Amino acid sequence: MKLHELTIRETHELLSSRKISSEELTRDYLERIQRLDPQVKSYVTVSEDVALEQAQKADECLKSGEGLTPLTGIPYSAKDSISTRGVNTTCSSKILENYKPFYDATAIKKLNSANSVLLGKNNMDEFGMGSSTENSGFFTTRNPWNFDHVPGGSSGGSAATVAAGLAPFALGEDTGGSVRMPASFCGVTGLKTTYGRVSRYGLIPLVSSFDTIGPMARSAYDVALVLEAIAGHDPKDSTSRVESVQSYSESLKKTENLRGLRIGIPKEYFVEGLDKEVEASVRTAIKQIEGLGADVVEVSLPHTQYAIPVYYLILFAEASSNLAKYDGVRFGLSERTGDLMDVYLKTREAGFGAEAKRRIMLGTFALSAGYYDAYYLKAQKVRALIRQDFQKAFETCDALITPVAPTTAFRIGEKISNPLDMYLSDVFVVAVNLAGIPALSVPCGISNGLPIGMQIIGPHLSEETLLRIGYLYQSQTDWHTKHPPCW
Ligand code: GLN
Repeated sequence: MKLHELTIRETHELLSSRKISSEELTRDYLERIQRLDPQVKSYVTVSEDVALEQAQKADECLKSGEGLTPLTGIPYSAKDSISTRGVNTTCSSKILENYKPFYDATAIKKLNSANSVLLGKNNMDEFGMGSSTENSGFFTTRNPWNFDHVPGGSSGGSAATVAAGLAPFALGEDTGGSVRMPASFCGVTGLKTTYGRVSRYGLIPLVSSFDTIGPMARSAYDVALVLEAIAGHDPKDSTSRVESVQSYSESLKKTENLRGLRIGIPKEYFVEGLDKEVEASVRTAIKQIEGLGADVVEVSLPHTQYAIPVYYLILFAEASSNLAKYDGVRFGLSERTGDLMDVYLKTREAGFGAEAKRRIMLGTFALSAGYYDAYYLKAQKVRALIRQDFQKAFETCDALITPVAPTTAFRIGEKISNPLDMYLSDVFVVAVNLAGIPALSVPCGISNGLPIGMQIIGPHLSEETLLRIGYLYQSQTDWHTKHPPCW
């Protein structure tokens, strides 16, 4: 078996028994990236020097056995909105093209202390705004299953990297589906964590009240390994959760069935516009989960239809405020011409892409005097209703199952000229961010050579339950072990 075909769990066994070194493994991945990424285009930056240095350090740790963790010596990549010290962190925006942070995000710091190996940074929609990576300021990532199709977004580079075997796991960011949607389009397992479960320190913000960092890998078990390494309270992020982190992977090993678990199927997620094959695959998966002992009931989330407008309104408002700091004075691109106002205008004109500009303008409008109550405040009120829908549903069930997206990966170019159409592809993922709850995307089928994903949603801090369902489902099915042609 080739090295890139191994899961984290299998790779760890080879590393800890010293059958391979982290340096060999890292060189193997770097060679694959060099060979295959010119087609997939999942990396914005490959941090070869950092990777080899970290791999050597990991090998010392593996030799001494001191401080060994399941991620020691394991390579990974991170979405380019997650700060990495001394390594370009661009958010795939021209405005941050040469920006090198002088500190690591907490999630990266935790992976450093586990002696994991950073291979590089993944392409994304600019600042996380999009569902296809076509809004990247640099280039579009291709879906490894079919290069004519998008990988999903905005963490499309991270999903494509994992799917093409160019990293065993990646860190993504999910503000409105950006981990789950690309995971589903590329056939990998991705977790949107509970808001605050993983520190946001060092994550360049899109929408501060929605943003979460989450792992993408080839199985629920591998996702559990990464989650337990990066989760936890962080004094540097006042919104991070104080609850102690469970040993997710240990509890998976003890799981035998889903008896006693109640699964809700929200009827608002199986509606017109949902592709027939996607629906059929998700329904088959639900049957299989029922076969594992779970009880399945229909539930209702009556305010679902408002999720898209509410999400986008709040997003425009918060994003316009978060992006105000890119002014050509403090960091990143600076067009030094004319007076100060010229610097602001020219820098933002040259640095931001069309989608970022659209959202900044709409958000600034929504927050302007006289409109705040009518738009932002109203959206926040409806957000509370959407959150209550979930709370009510979780009084009668432990988790919900839905499709991740209404279709499989669409074609490159298909939706880029129609922003509303692009926003609608997020219809099943954004309500989860409005509620701050976790959700897992798990491969559950293939249609016309493109993967299908199901979404397992749970109440706050229910990551263990979601992973348990995903893990047992994957122990009975092989969708997560299927690979794209370029593999
Ligand atoms: N499709 C969502 C958007 O465009 C993705 C946001 C995200 O999760 N970063 O806003």
